[in-house]
Amino acid sequence: AREFSERIGRFEVSATAVVVAEAAKLKAAGVDLADFGAGEPHFPTPRHIKDAAIAAIEQNFTHYTTTPGIPEVRKAIVDRHAADFGSDYAPDEAIFTTGGKLAIFYAVSALIDHGDEVIVPVPYWVSYKDIVQYAGGRPVFLETAEADHFRITAEAIESLITPRTRAILLNSPSNPSGAVMDTADFEGIVRLAHERGIYVLLDECYAYLTYKGKPVSGGSYIEAKEHVVVLGSLSKTYAMTGWRAGFALAPKPIIAAMAKLQSQTTSSATHFIQKASIAALSGPQQCVAEMRADYLKLRDEVLAGLRGIPGITCTVPEGAFYVYPNVKAYLGLPGAETAMELASRLLREGHVVTVPGEAFGTREHLRLSYATSHETVAEGVARMKAFFEGLR
Ligand code: PLP
Repeated sequence: AREFSERIGRFEVSATAVVVAEAAKLKAAGVDLADFGAGEPHFPTPRHIKDAAIAAIEQNFTHYTTTPGIPEVRKAIVDRHAADFGSDYAPDEAIFTTGGKLAIFYAVSALIDHGDEVIVPVPYWVSYKDIVQYAGGRPVFLETAEADHFRITAEAIESLITPRTRAILLNSPSNPSGAVMDTADFEGIVRLAHERGIYVLLDECYAYLTYKGKPVSGGSYIEAKEHVVVLGSLSKTYAMTGWRAGFALAPKPIIAAMAKLQSQTTSSATHFIQKASIAALSGPQQCVAEMRADYLKLRDEVLAGLRGIPGITCTVPEGAFYVYPNVKAYLGLPGAETAMELASRLLREGHVVTVPGEAFGTREHLRLSYATSHETVAEGVARMKAFFEGLR
């Protein structure tokens, strides 16, 4: 007899989960771990956002709302995005969702049919592959070169386009590599997609965490608007991961299709979280700049630490809060054949939590999140140095 649906079989337990589970076991046993695993801000949510949520609860904003979000939050989303990226969306071209991941899920579900191909550059964020497969689509992976900072060009994308190509799923700044797409490259991709009638889904979850220049945004290309879907999140920008606050910006029919899905799943996002999100999006943005400044220091500390470990190389990430060192020099040893095994040994013997590159579609890397304290960075890289020197 069949136990589960064929559809659920298209999901894989992510490689991340394996390491996380192992780390949790060690932590429970009282082992002190230097944790570079979790991709979430170590900062508390800024005071004025918390206050807005508390006030909203006191004022009884605790019921269902209109499906795509209350008008004020939809307006706050489009106003923030227009101010920062020069986009031009109306409030009914925005949907507020219970986290950015759900917005990705809705957008892919709304656009992708059985057999549709979705171009996904490697390394990719773990969930893209599974979300596309769950919708019945087929991820078509675009290999990129580390030596070229994981650059994604229109030419490379074009070489993968077939009559079945329906969408290109991009993420800049990237989780896991921290790479930021070049504006001209992105523009070329948007133009190509628009000409061919292919959608560009741009995950802008880390758009406010760039350390060099301005990040690209899908919303900046108004002439190609009908083929662009902007996927956003308040999680990283405002240290609000646990609040579950995300959004999408897209032409009205796409937003309506996504809202239809929301109407039959969550009904709406939490009312007082929508209220708090208005405070985040419309309030002072100083907190964003302050957190970014600290991430930049942390990035430089972790890079300096990694550079001190012989054999490890690392591209300089220009955004997000991850480094993606290449550990090829240490692979193929007994007990460390793969990055997955290496991460597991680093955890058990070195007491450092990292995520192996296999989770993101590459074989020679570890991902470290430096959204953590300066002490943890110092301690963690010292432990890594000792661990890797011991392997040689
Ligand atoms: N996109 C990327 C690339 C991410 O790394 C994350 C979170 O880790 C998300 C989207 C989703 O964030 P959330 O669902 O918390 O808004």
